[in-house]
Amino acid sequence: MTKPMDWRSVRDLLLERAVPVSTETVSVDNAAGRILAAPTAAVREVPPFDRSPYDGYAFRSADTAGELPVTLTILEEVPAGAVPTQTVTPGTAVKILTGAPIPPGADAVSKFEETDFTPETVTLKRAYQPGENLIYRGEDVYVGMGLTHAGQVVDAGVAGALWSQGIDSVLVYRRPRVAVISTGSELEEGTGFPTEGRIPNSNRLAFETALKLAGAEPIYYGTPRDDCAAIAELLERALGECDMVLTTGGVSVGDYDLTPAALERAGAEIAVRNIGLKPGGKCCFGWKNGRLAACLSGNPASALTCFYAVSLPVLRRLCGRERAALPEVSARLGADFKKGGKQTRLVRGHLSVDEHGLVFYPAAQQGNGALHTLAGANALAEIPVGAGPQSAGTVLRVSYFGI
Ligand code: AMP
Ligand code: MG
Repeated sequence: MTKPMDWRSVRDLLLERAVPVSTETVSVDNAAGRILAAPTAAVREVPPFDRSPYDGYAFRSADTAGELPVTLTILEEVPAGAVPTQTVTPGTAVKILTGAPIPPGADAVSKFEETDFTPETVTLKRAYQPGENLIYRGEDVYVGMGLTHAGQVVDAGVAGALWSQGIDSVLVYRRPRVAVISTGSELEEGTGFPTEGRIPNSNRLAFETALKLAGAEPIYYGTPRDDCAAIAELLERALGECDMVLTTGGVSVGDYDLTPAALERAGAEIAVRNIGLKPGGKCCFGWKNGRLAACLSGNPASALTCFYAVSLPVLRRLCGRERAALPEVSARLGADFKKGGKQTRLVRGHLSVDEHGLVFYPAAQQGNGALHTLAGANALAEIPVGAGPQSAGTVLRVSYFGI
């Protein structure tokens, strides 16, 4: 038997063939979390006029070049949103508030706490440079400046920047439609207490949630029994209708592990059969008409580990994200971890920051079926092949899949 590929090679092999889905136009007020499909450039200057960064007084800096302190006559008050009606001339000043336009004639602003003032006059105690405390028109954004790029997530900064430009709709990648199929004769839908010998289909909800958080639209296709023809029929339909297919169960080597055979029967070309990885190494990946079927173990934690390591990057590529592979960092172990092994191990846990830097806390339990130990997990730490037990403080490579 040939040695199974390592998980990064499998990820890269699959990524080579994955391409982003088509695009659609959505309104900016409904685009949070979407991925931009085109760059945008500024069409308006920000700020649109010279403005004051402080509450204070606008005046001619030349008035502070002579003997100090100097007392100036206040012409008017200009709050934010108002327009100055007076021109500042020698010996005069305008009371100005943060964000208000600089009046004509003025070329400097003093903070009010640096001055002595009455309702009629302001006394300046030091010299000011021309341009001091002024935000010039177009200083933050000039017309034609690149604002956003394709592959970027619409976050608070992007949405605010677009809106400030009067841009109210954007081209984004549509959400990839991902079929979810849970195979296994033991599975029961719903949350009622299962009949004897059967278990709830928890993978369905786990994967639907993971897919939604990744920006995809999950489409549930049901629970075929351990029957090759039944699984093949659903796989074929899903591969015809969706951008990607995710199945769980039936990828091991038992008599009822029929998913790989069903995938071939559905007309897919098998690209990967198993990965040198624990947990989650039992899996099968196949392509049909440019669409990937990722067939993962039924064991919930194994399936999610394999999903995050190998399938999520493919999904991120389909979503149009600029970086498909998960970000990897070096982090120290926050607690001892006992298990090494003959295969690369991906330990699930929580990546965090403390006063010494990045720290990874492994989940207390790493069993394949212990789904609850993935609650709150945001990262996978890699324990290399053949490594023994790892003690707290050891630095490991950690892949971050959190939002
Ligand atoms: P399999 O990969 O089919 O050998 O299943 C491995 C283990 O995962 C078995 O204990 C199954 O009962 C369990 N399992 C399979 N599918 C699911 C599912 N959809 N939800 C929860 N557990 C599952
Ligand atoms: Mg099974």
